[in-house]
Amino acid sequence: MAASKEFERRVPWPDDIQCPVVLNFHPDAEALAVALDKENANRPNTQTMYSYGPRVGLQRILHMMRNYKIKGSFYWPAKSAQRHPYAIEWIVADGHEIGCHGFTHDWPNWLDAATEAKHLDQQVEILTQLSGSRPRGYISPGWEYSAQTLKLLRERGFEFSGDWLGEDIPYYVEIDDKQTDFVAIPVNWTLDDAPLYWFSLFPPLSYGAPYSAPSRVFELWSSEFDALYEEGAPFHLTLHPFLTGRGARVKTLEKLIEHMMARPGVKFCTMAELADMYKAVITPEQGKPGKWFPATSGEAPQITRIDGVPTYR
Ligand SMILES: [Zn+2]
Repeated sequence: MAASKEFERRVPWPDDIQCPVVLNFHPDAEALAVALDKENANRPNTQTMYSYGPRVGLQRILHMMRNYKIKGSFYWPAKSAQRHPYAIEWIVADGHEIGCHGFTHDWPNWLDAATEAKHLDQQVEILTQLSGSRPRGYISPGWEYSAQTLKLLRERGFEFSGDWLGEDIPYYVEIDDKQTDFVAIPVNWTLDDAPLYWFSLFPPLSYGAPYSAPSRVFELWSSEFDALYEEGAPFHLTLHPFLTGRGARVKTLEKLIEHMMARPGVKFCTMAELADMYKAVITPEQGKPGKWFPATSGEAPQITRIDGVPTYR
């Protein structure tokens, strides 16, 4: 069955692109362990589970991406980037995108306003210095904002974020009832490896109950891809090197990449490239988010329509 007309090809991607694919890696490292349980600062062995990401998993992932000649995004908590500067060098040398993902991995809504602003400044400064260029994008730790996050991002010149969950396609964000050119690139937990692969003693987590078999993960992600491809919506996958960077799991990711590469019109890109591509074909006036974002009224939800641009079919 074909995609319903309402959902079909809401963004007219350029160059015969049917489905942009973003592989978005979060090398959270020790910052994630300590954010979830402050006592983990005194648990060196627990921390190694997370430092496995930049030290080992990342190398496997970068090697694999070199083989397929694809680029991706790497969003770092700045404190973890400082602990693993060699990993930033590898990523930059391979031409991938570096972005901001917290200073510590504390959720922004845990922080007071002054600390959140200071942490954002530190992220920009540290990642600019380590990577050699200023990050354009932001992904909040835990995909959550405080009341002032958007305003703080705009003041610092961020152009897009990857942490809203209420859509399949990108859209321009309204701030204080004003349409801006800030692009939200949506994510969702279905396309994230954490619920499938993560086990932890401190804090006790076993989302994968206990772990997902590679065949199950491939089935889940490839079927999500097939459906998004049909609609012409981006496939935006969030991956953590300490989880996906394990041997059999990298092979599962390879299998998925081959599945996607076999379809015409699939374009592997960074989150920055996806934002640029979206801005090239949709104006802020066209890319309104619909009345339900953020949900402030009882009005019926509207599907985001991109009006006034030609569709390709
Ligand atoms: Zn993270």
